[in-house]
Order: sequence, then C-alpha cells, then structure tokens
Amino acid sequence: MNTKYLFLTLAMCFGVAQANHSFFEIPTPGLQQAPKNIEQLTALVHDAAHNSRTISIVGAGKSMGGQTIAIDDNAYQVSLKHLNKMLLLDLEHKEVTVQTGMTWGELQKQIAPHGLAIKAMQSYNSFSIGGSLGVNVHGQDFNAGMIIETVQSFRLLLANGTVVNVSRNENAELFGFAIGGYGLAGIIVDVTLALTDDVSITRVNATVPSSELANYFRNNIQDNPKVQFYSARYSMGRHNLLNEAFVIAYEKTDRALVVQPALDTKFGNMLLRNLVWLTQFSLMRRMRSSIEKLFLALPTVYSRNNLMGSSVEALPRDTKHSRYILQEYFIPYDQLNSFIDDFRTIAQEYNVDLLNVSARHVRGNDESLLSWSPQDTCALVLYICQPCNEDAYDGAVIWTRELIDVALKHDGSFYLPYQCLATPQQVAAAYKNVSKFLELKKKYDPRGVFKNKMYDHYLGS
Ligand SMILES: Cc1cc2nc3c(=O)[nH]c(=O)nc-3n(C[C@H](O)[C@H](O)[C@H](O)COP(=O)(O)OP(=O)(O)OC[C@H]3O[C@@H](n4cnc5c(N)ncnc54)[C@H](O)[C@@H]3O)c2cc1C
Repeated sequence: MNTKYLFLTLAMCFGVAQANHSFFEIPTPGLQQAPKNIEQLTALVHDAAHNSRTISIVGAGKSMGGQTIAIDDNAYQVSLKHLNKMLLLDLEHKEVTVQTGMTWGELQKQIAPHGLAIKAMQSYNSFSIGGSLGVNVHGQDFNAGMIIETVQSFRLLLANGTVVNVSRNENAELFGFAIGGYGLAGIIVDVTLALTDDVSITRVNATVPSSELANYFRNNIQDNPKVQFYSARYSMGRHNLLNEAFVIAYEKTDRALVVQPALDTKFGNMLLRNLVWLTQFSLMRRMRSSIEKLFLALPTVYSRNNLMGSSVEALPRDTKHSRYILQEYFIPYDQLNSFIDDFRTIAQEYNVDLLNVSARHVRGNDESLLSWSPQDTCALVLYICQPCNEDAYDGAVIWTRELIDVALKHDGSFYLPYQCLATPQQVAAAYKNVSKFLELKKKYDPRGVFKNKMYDHYLGS
C-alpha cells in the first residue's frame, strides 16, 4: 500500500474528519443575547431602538456569510435558542404552531409519533425554523416547494417593539418582506406551518447523460404522482466532470419499512462524515459514484421522517487548513445544458475543488420579495473544499463572480445564505425586488435596528 492510501486508512480510523473546529462558528462582534421569553426579547428591541444599537438575529447560526453577524461591537446579536417550544399541534388540520428558535429535528421528534412530517425544509434537520424562514429554504420535496408555501401565518416583532399577526390576509405586505428577509424585517417569533403525512418511500435510481437530465425530470418525475423527493448528482471525476447525472428519486410505496434507521446516530454520522471527507482525494472522487450506485441500489424502504432526519453532523467539519462551503445557483431548464458547459469551463480553469454538485427542482414562487427563484428552475448545489487562506478566498471571489455572471446570462439566480462573494450589482440583477424590499425596510425599520453584515455588504448604501 503506498503512503497516501495508508494515510487515508489511518485517517479513517482516527476520524480526522472530526476535528473540533467548525466553519459554522464564525466569530462575531457585538453583545450576545439569548432571551428566555418574548417579554425579554421585546425589551431588547426597545432597548436597541432607544440606544441606537442594531440587532442581528441568530437561529442555528449555520449560514455561511454575514447573515447573522452583528455589524459592530455595540450591536446585539440575539439568539432565539430558548424560544423553541411547540405551541399547538392541530392534528385535524395537520398544522403546527412553533416558536422559531426550534430546530427541525426537535419538531420531528414531536410530530413523528402522530404520523406527521414536515413539508419543506433543508436536507439536514439541524437548522432552526426561524433561520429557515429567514432565507426561505427549499428541500428535496419539489411538490412542497419553498417553505413560504407551507406558511399559514406568523407573528412578527417589529423594530418599534410591537408584535403583529401576519398572513396572506392580515398585514399582507409583511408576509413576503419577512420570509426570505434575512432577519431585516423583524423577528418572526412564532409560525404556523402546514404538515403532511409521514409515508413510506422507496428509492428509484437512474443514470443519464447530464445533457438529458432536464428531459428525464420532465418525462419521469415532474408529473409522476408517486414521486416525493428528487435530486441528481453530477459526475465529479477529472475526465467526466459534470458529464453524467445520477438521479435519486423517492416514490411512495405500500411496502412495509425494511429499515428504520435512527433519525441521527453518532456512529452513522461519524461514518458519513469520514466518507464525505474522503471525497477530497481524487481516487475516492472517481470511485464515489460507483460506490454510491451500489449502495443506493439496495431496496430500502424509508419513512419520510427518516429521510429528512439527517444532521449536519454527518458532514466533515472544518480544520485549520480547509473549510467546506456551499453555493447554489438556480437555472431555467431551457438554459441548463449551456450553463453546465460554462460552469465546467470555469471549474476547470480555476481548478475549483468541487466535492459534489447536485441538482433539484424548484417550483417558481415570487411571494417573498427576495425570492431566489420566481420561475421554475433547476437548483444546482455546489459543495466545495476551500483552503483557509486569503489567496484561496480571493480566488473564490473571482471565479464565483464569473459564475454568477454566467447564471445571470442564463436568466438564472444565486442563493444568499452562503459566503457574501457577489457584488451588490449582481444581487440587484438577480433579485428584481430589492428596491421594494428597501422601501419596506425604510417604512418598518426607519432607524435600521435590524442589520447584519450581509445587509451592509449587499444592501446598505
Ligand atoms: C450544510 C448546509 C446544508 C444546507 N442545505 C440547504 C438546503 O437543502 N436547502 C436550502 O434552502 N438551504 C440550505 N442551506 C442553507 C440554510 O438553509 C440557511 O443557511 C439557513 O438559514 C440555516 O438555518 P439557521 O437556523 O442556521 O439560520 P441562521 O443562519 O441562524 O439565520 C439565517 C437568516 O435568518 C435570520 N433569522 C433567523 N431566525 C429568524 C427569525 N426568528 N426571524 C427572522 N429572521 C430570522 C437570520 O438573521 C439570518 O439572516 C444549507 C446550509 C448548510 C450549511
């Protein structure tokens, strides 16, 4: 065995991928606050408004840029972690009202025993419900769409210290301002969400040339009433980069559960973390799709809750030397192949260390003022290993801006919860309602109480 593979084996055994430092924990200036109840939270907002402080809001704090970061040392960075109670579970109407500091994992534990499941959330359950509303997330259930489609109503704590009810019929202009509003409209204190049934599902796989992915989706997935989840992973080898797509869909089944994996086990997470970490080595990147195809061909039956029960603990953590970052682009289907060709050229030219590129479907929705996909698009999620040094960061700024220009050229867009690498002009080009968003910001928060580094970077003038 040569030394490289010996090292890999030892690394697996000792769990190198489990280094303690996590890139999610970005250092922040400001005064950390974690109110225990709504009265304390409201008092903080009054205090900030009267003492010229700003407030940045933190859910689980896993966004990768300045979305939760306070703008200066005088600011309050307010964590909602103690506001995490379930307030009402309406079994008849399949709705739940929760405080927004709760994580999806905490909610799943409470609704799964009633045969209920979440409609729209990310691929991992470690995020807070407030943070998910703050960026208007989407997941693999393309029928559910963005989280905003599942929101019935919420209560919003405004910059003037009042709490208002918000729905599509009440204070309606705040609905699309606060959801997807990156904590700049106010604090969503609790929310009523539509739930769905926890059904059994089984996997269906296919491998197609990437140029055929859009057709495959249209012909086999989009109108197939059995399909609940859909994603595809592109080939990552140096010689077949983005040439092939491995489709992973999940269909409803009447078959009984074969395995009921624990929602989130330490051992399972450790194993997955190490496997993902190994994909940074080219041998593993080449072998990954064959291993995946073997593993994913197993005739497993899951429950919806199982499938939505993974934690970010299953991902490798940052080390002193490298961090793992995400980016996401939304591309209309008729432009997808041409975008992929341009993307491949950029990735090769800049030697971007892509560990994974996956595709999902997004149903267009423009209810959120900062909607990242007003029209139907293919969402491309990039998982990248970025060395922790200034050169690598500066390099990422250059190729990311090029890739964003390519997305814009293809009538597409990009997602904002990640590193703030774009220019404000690119944000304005992708998000057509920025000026309307800023008008409402002036109306409801004239003194600019709710601010964060992302606001300063992209929206502050
Ligand atoms: C590993 C990983 C996987 C991901 N997968 C997906 C995915 O599948 N789909 C997807 O859409 N996104 C995905 N994302 C992005 C992720 O959904 C967002 O970063 C999300 O905001 C993280 O949730 P959080 O609780 O950590 O939010 P935070 O980072 O804490 O907050 C996000 C934003 O919401 C605001 N906010 C938080 N709570 C409230 C509140 N109560 N009221 C008002 N504003 C609030 C914050 O101020 C901030 O601007 C992923 C991110 C990572 C790191």
